Amino acid sequence: MDMDIKALDKKYIANTYGRADVVFVSGRGAEVFDADGRRYIDLGAGIAVNAFGLADPVWAAAVAEQASRLQHMSNLYYTQPCVKLAEMLCRRTGMKKVFFGNSGAEANECAIKTARKWAFDKYGDESRATIITLKNSFHGRTITTLAATGQDAFHTKFGPFTPGFVYASAQDAGEVRALAEKGDCCAVMLELIQGEGGVVPLTRQYVDEVVKIAREHEMLVIVDEVQTGNGRTGTLYAYQQFGFTPDIFSTAKSLGGGLPLGACLLGERVEHTLGAGDHGSTFGGNPVACAGALSILERIDDALLEGVRRKGEYIRSALSGAKGVQSVTGMGLMVGILTDKPAGEVARAALRRGVVVLTAHEKVRLLPPLNITDEQLREAVEILKEVIGE
Ligand SMILES: *Cc1c(COP(=O)(O)O)cnc(C)c1O
Repeated sequence: MDMDIKALDKKYIANTYGRADVVFVSGRGAEVFDADGRRYIDLGAGIAVNAFGLADPVWAAAVAEQASRLQHMSNLYYTQPCVKLAEMLCRRTGMKKVFFGNSGAEANECAIKTARKWAFDKYGDESRATIITLKNSFHGRTITTLAATGQDAFHTKFGPFTPGFVYASAQDAGEVRALAEKGDCCAVMLELIQGEGGVVPLTRQYVDEVVKIAREHEMLVIVDEVQTGNGRTGTLYAYQQFGFTPDIFSTAKSLGGGLPLGACLLGERVEHTLGAGDHGSTFGGNPVACAGALSILERIDDALLEGVRRKGEYIRSALSGAKGVQSVTGMGLMVGILTDKPAGEVARAALRRGVVVLTAHEKVRLLPPLNITDEQLREAVEILKEVIGE
């Protein structure tokens, strides 16, 4: 059965993914089982998607209940779950309005469109449509969010890309200033911890400086919290640890707890920017995805966030200075580990030993479910230490 699935996948699935050699069939929390019944500890959470792990019973019940009542009516009508979710998001962040899409890239598309419309409304033309993004960033796989992504590797083969993106250093705010001074920019867009780029946090000093430059040059600050959001870094959103509030932020991944859901949150400067017909999505705000998301967000409380910070500290202290480990970066349960061995080799060896880990650029990347137990984490970290050190 196992072999069939792999062969059929190779035959029928578009060949865009290099898959690890395992077929997963079920799970519970931070434990996942393959087709042979073998148990693994999951430190990847489906790339930071399964906030409360696999088959989370609270989320599954919320999803099942909504699916059995009303799964979709479209945005032509009022439905309950998306409104409740938007209210909760705004109440917990101080943002004013929410647009729902189905993915991180779509949430970022909305952020980009909103910033450009804001500048158009302000200046009456498209002369300030440019958006500054950071080198080594990742913002998605659509043609526009690839253009926003500040990595040359993503800028070949699929051109022409959407114009209007310029890239600045993620260390030297002087580059942001130089671009801002050209006078054609409406926004700067940041990942506070560059996730796909190797779990590289921006420094507080750099972020302070960029926010100041944006204010001085009448630019919006957009934060991409697709990966860092929804409790991952030990606060509900990562910007809450950087001492400022963005004008716009996007989130996705953990928000839906396993179902596709993205959100673009709009602060007071852009609260009225989008009007009827400016943007839309057939599936956006889908009742089932939103009912699931509500059940996730309700449980990301102070106690859970305290646990995320404590477990993150445990991983950092257990791995810092361990044999074969060069550095450990990140915040909360978003961890990057630079190892002597190539990251891919560590990930394959860990999988063979029953631990699922991710990679990002040259690093091993950990994004475990937020509710992973101390015992599961200890067991997985011990195995990972052996794999990295051997
Ligand atoms: C994953 C990710 C995206 C893209 O999200 P999709 O849901 O794959 O479209 C965008 N930005 C960041 C920071 C991400 O980590």
